Amino acid sequence: MIGAVAGVVYIVGAGPGDPELITVRGRRMLRRSDVVVYDRLVHPALVRRARAGAERIFVGKRPGHGIRQEAINALLIDRARRGLRVTRLKGGDPFVFGRGGEEAEALRAAGVRFEIVPGITSAVAVPAYAGIPVTHRRLGSAFAVVTGHECAGASDLDWTALARIPTLVVLMGHRALRAIAARLLTEGISPATPAAVVSRGTTPDQRTVVSTISGIATAAARAGLAAPSILIVGEVARLHGALEWFTPAGGLETAVDPAAVPLRQRP
Ligand code: SAH
Repeated sequence: MIGAVAGVVYIVGAGPGDPELITVRGRRMLRRSDVVVYDRLVHPALVRRARAGAERIFVGKRPGHGIRQEAINALLIDRARRGLRVTRLKGGDPFVFGRGGEEAEALRAAGVRFEIVPGITSAVAVPAYAGIPVTHRRLGSAFAVVTGHECAGASDLDWTALARIPTLVVLMGHRALRAIAARLLTEGISPATPAAVVSRGTTPDQRTVVSTISGIATAAARAGLAAPSILIVGEVARLHGALEWFTPAGGLETAVDPAAVPLRQRP
């Protein structure tokens, strides 16, 4: 270990949006930290929960335009080497498309102690807040979580295999929604497969659109859904109509495409 005082970095999942959806441990680490380094999707109420006088550093900005990962790593290492307790607060779970793994690697290489505090990932919680269980004994016994980031271009994902997964949860697919749907259709997914887009899940701005995989891009565009959003493809998306329970501040603003077949009409 370097230096006389040993700092530490807690890599903490902040949850999917609602500030109550952080873990008890995550909140405790946040309270005891000297420094909080946080991302764009972290709720401001959580950052305010840090103790008075804690240094708060925003490293988010828009996708692709944030502070470089190396600079974030260097910042974490610097503060820890000064003997400080640092909370690195990340949206959802830090190890689900959160680069938490890269940060842990950098900390280990630098000899800085760290702890991981898992978070509630949006990949599961956002569908849940739209009444969509990612698995269901009758409708889907497996799910995959993928990034839709580079779908249109050089995705190294096996979309042929993904088109066969009972429930596909696509993160970071907001802009590429049409391309993702087209890709799945090319790979042979049934055009009638139910699909849902949930925007700003677990927050007062949550909105849901349900359609089929062939109609979802148009339905979501027509509804004007904003990022961040999650795409759920699979039979479980039908359950939204039956299990919707969360009432955002503005009331329910759900659009269900007439093309989407309700659950009760299924054989
Ligand atoms: N580590 C995070 C994911 C980071 S990638 C987690 O475990 O949740 C960021 C993507 O997550 C967004 O592009 C979006 O697809 C999804 N996302 C995060 N918060 C969301 C929210 N409140 N509503 C809808 N999608 C969300």
